Amino acid sequence: MHGTASFYPHVVPDGQYMRRTAGREAGKPVQKKKQSALEALQKRIAACNQCVRLREYCAEIGRVKRRAYSDWEYWARPVPSFGDPRARVLILGLAPGAHGSNRTGRPFTGDGSGDFLWPVLYEAGFASQAESHSRDDGMKMTGAWITSVGRCAPPKNKPLPEELRNCAPFLDEELHALRQLRVVVCLGKIAFDGYLAHLTRTGVLESRRGYDFAHAAEYRLPHGMHLLASYHPSLQNTNTGKLTRAMFMRIFDRARLLAGIPQQRA
Ligand code: SF4
Repeated sequence: MHGTASFYPHVVPDGQYMRRTAGREAGKPVQKKKQSALEALQKRIAACNQCVRLREYCAEIGRVKRRAYSDWEYWARPVPSFGDPRARVLILGLAPGAHGSNRTGRPFTGDGSGDFLWPVLYEAGFASQAESHSRDDGMKMTGAWITSVGRCAPPKNKPLPEELRNCAPFLDEELHALRQLRVVVCLGKIAFDGYLAHLTRTGVLESRRGYDFAHAAEYRLPHGMHLLASYHPSLQNTNTGKLTRAMFMRIFDRARLLAGIPQQRA
């Protein structure tokens, strides 16, 4: 391990968060500063045009639309992250769905994956509502933040490697700004690989060897963070029973426990 001290100054190997404690005790407005950094990042994400193929695809989807959503004005831009800036749990997905987040402008909002995810997040106490349909539906998150390794909907749900590389600095910046994180839940292998790539880029890991993707796989990382892997809640996985609600619920119960958040049920 090398270089973690500069990228993760707030994390020490036992998982305690030094600046948070110090800020609270000193009564300093630490949170306000962090929140505006995250807000500024989300604005930059929404304005990004780096991947020409993806920007053209998202815009075209927004022009043509799906018949069921013909009265929607599609978001059709990179999708900002969503959640609690004081999150201890990061939920890392793949990329927006063409007629889900690319339409609504919020992660996991308005598609089958979201219909599976939100009831679980609600029951686990991370979400204020069990359904998510639009950016103005009043949803609030507590203790969790949702983001993805790609911010633009890709054709066939498959971003190209160079597109993921283009988007990676946003994830690096976001992880740096979310200073109370303790647990990262990766939804699917591409998200899992994306997070491992972040860890090697930032010097937390020298190699990915020994970090294998499997549902419910769990790793304690050298800088104190916990990594939890889950199957992605895609219709392909949930309709076939590869990922059941009970399996998914256990992931988020475990995330709460690892994050030191008291268990609760909605
Ligand atoms: S995928 Fe990421 S880097 Fe590429 S255009 Fe979208 S926001 Fe920008």
